[in-house]
Amino acid sequence: MYQVDKRGYYGDFGGAFIPEMLYKNIEELRENYLEIIQEESFQLQLGDLLRDYVGRPTPLYYAARLSEVYGAKIYLKREDLCHTGAHKVNNTLGQILLAKKLNKKRIIAETGAGQHGVATATACALMGIDCVIYMGAVDIERQRPNVERMKILGAEVRAAQSGSKTLKDATNEAMRDWINNPEDTHYIIGSVVGPHPYPDMVARFQAIISEEIRWQLKAHEGRELPDYVLACVGGGSNAAGAFYHFLDDTEVKLVAAEAAGLGVETGKTAATTYSGKPGVLHGSKSLVMQTEDGQVIEPYSMSAGLDYPGIGPMHAHLYDSGRGLFYSVTDEEAFKAAIMVSRLEGIIPALETAHAFATLDKLDLKSDDVLVINLSGRGDKDLQTYIDRGGY
Ligand SMILES: *Cc1c(COP(=O)(O)O)cnc(C)c1O
Repeated sequence: MYQVDKRGYYGDFGGAFIPEMLYKNIEELRENYLEIIQEESFQLQLGDLLRDYVGRPTPLYYAARLSEVYGAKIYLKREDLCHTGAHKVNNTLGQILLAKKLNKKRIIAETGAGQHGVATATACALMGIDCVIYMGAVDIERQRPNVERMKILGAEVRAAQSGSKTLKDATNEAMRDWINNPEDTHYIIGSVVGPHPYPDMVARFQAIISEEIRWQLKAHEGRELPDYVLACVGGGSNAAGAFYHFLDDTEVKLVAAEAAGLGVETGKTAATTYSGKPGVLHGSKSLVMQTEDGQVIEPYSMSAGLDYPGIGPMHAHLYDSGRGLFYSVTDEEAFKAAIMVSRLEGIIPALETAHAFATLDKLDLKSDDVLVINLSGRGDKDLQTYIDRGGY
């Protein structure tokens, strides 16, 4: 009920709303992706990389001090321990192997804060494939360290100079590149967004997270199903991965944390289910923050990875159907949670992930509840934001 259907829809959301010029590229992917990723040789190759290069399985860690504070059993799925410091590499490695099977010689990607750009540049360096990353000129100025990381890894970073010179403009430039190079180029999208089959393909590559949670929880607790799984949602890829193998187990509550920024009513927010309406963004129908006449509203969050005006179609459907429980978390609430987790567990989380921790205050927990929080990334990349907010 919560998986994509044959037409690429999750309930009312999804599909492939693309310009005619992209039809061939998308169609090639759609016709081939399932067959390729289900091949045994592909699974073995990806499995080896995930184990030896990424460091999987990532631990499922019982957070004793955090559990004591909240009076429930809390486990952390340590995606922050993946190579490059977050879950994104699970997807970029999967897609680059797929691109090779399709005989592509060149990779392009868009990036906002640079995290997906770095994960893509990493996979390209590993495979010896040419890599071009499109990034808004404004973001290039704001995210220097990640720009330099991509360059060290051998990627070319191209500045998008149109519009607001941020993520959506970089996405437009990447699309234009793909239209001009349909034969030899694969476009790696970084979250469960974009036209079908991207949301499903990315969800499948991230689904390793919940696959591991099930057997790891069985070893810890003697049961595969937690009472809650919590994750933050930007586009929604880490949440999709953490939820994937629990979607049909309706006794497991799926909690999604969105960034409220300065507050849902301030106009400085990225809380899409709260303030969005159905619309088309980046090739699929989903919930989108937009004006009365359908212009996309600039989102705001202190965390770059959640600063997105939409969510993937799977999440729009989880929200719409009531299967997912969506909470809005302000910058202030998330920052407080980040400091708490740092002090209680000795883990400085990414500010995106901090939003998931902050929902603990909003849940009505019982003492025998078992929770799994997807710790999507580590906080090193956010050090400057930590320093600027200060007060810890
Ligand atoms: C990019 C990022 C996110 C947000 O992306 P999703 O696709 O929603 O997972 C969350 N956490 C971290 C650490 C990230 O780097």
